[in-house]
Amino acid sequence: MQEADIRPAEMFKESLRLDQEDIARVLAHRSQFVRVSCPACDSALSEPAFEKSGFLYERCGECRTLYVNPRPSMEVLSEHYRNSLTIEYWNENIYPASEEVRRNNIFAPRARRVVEICKARDVGLGSLLDIGAGFGTFLEELQKLNLFEALYAVEPSSKLADTCRKKGLAVMEELAENLKIDAPVDVITNFELIEHLFEPLAFLKHCHRLLKPGGLMILTTPNILGFDLLVLGALSDNIGAPNHINYFNPLALKILMQSAGFTVLETLTPGELDVDIVKNKIKSGEFDVSTSPFLKEVLVERGDSLGGAFQKFLADNLLSSHMWVVAQRI
Ligand SMILES: [Zn+2]
Repeated sequence: MQEADIRPAEMFKESLRLDQEDIARVLAHRSQFVRVSCPACDSALSEPAFEKSGFLYERCGECRTLYVNPRPSMEVLSEHYRNSLTIEYWNENIYPASEEVRRNNIFAPRARRVVEICKARDVGLGSLLDIGAGFGTFLEELQKLNLFEALYAVEPSSKLADTCRKKGLAVMEELAENLKIDAPVDVITNFELIEHLFEPLAFLKHCHRLLKPGGLMILTTPNILGFDLLVLGALSDNIGAPNHINYFNPLALKILMQSAGFTVLETLTPGELDVDIVKNKIKSGEFDVSTSPFLKEVLVERGDSLGGAFQKFLADNLLSSHMWVVAQRI
């Protein structure tokens, strides 16, 4: 799988253009931005990192989380997610165009991995709640495996919630923070969600309450100490407020999960795209590799023969920028 397979280049360009319109609308509410302490460890010790598209990023002096500060209030963020042109464009164009590649390379393996994790941890395959279900492809793949007794999608964006409903999924169109359910569940998953949240700790505490004792929380999020994010910094397309406002790392996420009452069982970075993403930035001329002879050697001069092995090295050593965390409500 390559970056262009899941983000067709021309469509991705259009989504970046729409993103600028979304950004302008959010920045118009700058007077409602609020300062926060570190979203992972709550430390107030931070130093400025950089500015991008009008948003200021700071780095926690204690746990090295990168976060947008000051950040749009919860109300401004909710309004943004209700009306985002970019999300609508992904729902109508990029997700449909890339769904089969995503299904085969991301969602089917993801569904299998979730089942393997549950089995390895001896957690019952009863009920599973996928928060931030998006286009619903992950739950469709899980449904095909026919192992869980009940699957629920939680999706606050009305367009994406509609897509999930059309796929026959049980959908709760609700912000996760406001979610109420009748009975606690065995497993909660959320993929690429907590980097979007105004207050990740409150969200995770709420998830803790929604789980049965012994239940599993399985989540993915960017790892700011992963290769492409470390190398590209502000140049990375993944660095993009107001959608992404929290960038954790394995240690920071462990601190955060523990504060919410979870025990972290496992942290993995099985990412596959770091090398491809950096190579694409070199090709496009946005990232000048001439001052990094080592990267030039590994990614450009010997890229064809070393790229795969280098990506595997990153994934095996918690150095990929895509992170999985498995935690349990003890
Ligand atoms: Zn921190």
